[in-house]
Amino acid sequence: MLIKSETIVLKNYLNGAWVQSKSSETLDVLNPATGELLAKVPLSTKDDVDEAVQIAKEAFKSWKNTPVPKRARILFKYHYLLTENHKKLAKLIVQENGKAYNEAYGEVQRGIECVEFAAGAPTLMMGETLSTIAPTIDSEMFRFPLGVVGGITPYNFPMMVPLWMFPLAVACGNTFVLKPSERTPLLSNELARLFTEAGAPNGVLSIVHGTHDVVNGLLEHPDVKAISFVGSQPVAKYVYERAAANGKRVQALSGAKNHHIVMPDADMGKAVDNIISSAFGSAGQRCMACSAVVVVGDGDEFVEALKEKADDLIMGNGLDEEVLLTPVIRESHRAKVLEYIEKGEDEGANLIRDGRKDMKEKEEGYFLGATIFDHVKPEMTIAKEEIFAPVLSLLRARDLDEGLEYISKSRYGNGATIYTKDAKAVRQFREEAEAGMLGINVGVPATMAFFPFSGWKDSFYGDLHVNGKDGVNFYTKKKMITSRFDY
Ligand code: NAD
Repeated sequence: MLIKSETIVLKNYLNGAWVQSKSSETLDVLNPATGELLAKVPLSTKDDVDEAVQIAKEAFKSWKNTPVPKRARILFKYHYLLTENHKKLAKLIVQENGKAYNEAYGEVQRGIECVEFAAGAPTLMMGETLSTIAPTIDSEMFRFPLGVVGGITPYNFPMMVPLWMFPLAVACGNTFVLKPSERTPLLSNELARLFTEAGAPNGVLSIVHGTHDVVNGLLEHPDVKAISFVGSQPVAKYVYERAAANGKRVQALSGAKNHHIVMPDADMGKAVDNIISSAFGSAGQRCMACSAVVVVGDGDEFVEALKEKADDLIMGNGLDEEVLLTPVIRESHRAKVLEYIEKGEDEGANLIRDGRKDMKEKEEGYFLGATIFDHVKPEMTIAKEEIFAPVLSLLRARDLDEGLEYISKSRYGNGATIYTKDAKAVRQFREEAEAGMLGINVGVPATMAFFPFSGWKDSFYGDLHVNGKDGVNFYTKKKMITSRFDY
């Protein structure tokens, strides 16, 4: 299954077949740890999108009438096949995304859990009834699928994010057109292959590879009824506005700046371990990564311990077992991150660990060592913007109130964590922290598939989140029936 160095131009997946894109333009798909060319991804056109949508529209006619338990059985089989291929899928993620094998293994697990959840469609899709809303009159609510749904996904979770979307969408009776990240497109082809092997009829899931032309094709297509998007903030906002203007239902999950508050009474050893793994695991390229630590009180000892631990991190290819620090996705991304580091220095933050020096060890791949700034002020660029890399800002706060103020001033509100043993502080944090997913002594408080993935503020545009009951509501429309029985 792993693609070696021969150059393959990836195909789109339409109507159960691998089909060449109408465009001959391609982008390179590179292994971020080695720079090796894995494949070429086509930059498909709006005509490719139209073909996929027409196929999905046609498939919807019979798929929506396929009994819900039968749809669920396909997902059970899919669950089995994904589990059987767990290790292979994880290796493919390492190859195209660069993250460490155990992170990739965990990601596959999180994806499988979404399929597990979606397989509950017969109960999840149940409506509601009320007898006797008036004499001899009853009321019932049924759920129906929307039609063709489009999904647009980022590079950092090539397995989990597509599986946030299409298993639940198709379990609810929709058909789905996926536009995976052009930087990590290999895994989605594997997901489609296994979905067909599980018994999904042709046209229920299609894949169209490419970049903005494919995205715009989906956003503008009159037969696409809803859009699920996950990616960076400017694109999320654009997708939300454009899709909504075209009358579509839309959920757009966006960027993040996740704060971890370390209280003076915290278990310092555990807080350090959690923050190191959260900030530097997957090279900081997780939407739930810790990117800002708020050190409450005199935290010099904590800061010293954090720096020492960062010095010990092993950087390298994610296939090597002891490695935690893996590369960022592309050279262009690393170049942007280096500009942020310079900006941090220019704006007066104290660079206590400079990851740039570690780059010299690695001739190939897009590596950057763990970088830590101390005494960062909330108004500095590195405190405000998402850097999406192994660059951590430490802010100092007098007390919890001030720490919470930093969080509420942030434009983002994906996640936040507190490390403390004090129940009163926990409660205050739970009530006042302006973010949708909170951790109490937890480094990456990402929710599981049966709960909504619940970012706030500029970390999310829309109403209904992905996963959980929100996901079911997003992918279904309700119909009310009022019946009189004395007729
Ligand atoms: P990205 O925004 O660059 O790309 C996401 C998708 O949008 C890709 O499929 C891409 O092809 C498409 N796209 C990019 N630019 C576009 C444009 N100008 N017009 C139309 N489409 C465009 O995001 P990324 O770099 O792949 O992923 C990292 C980002 O995703 C980070 O900001 C991260 O926080 C965010 N993310 C958020 C969550 C969440 O749950 N909130 C989860 C994962 C990732």
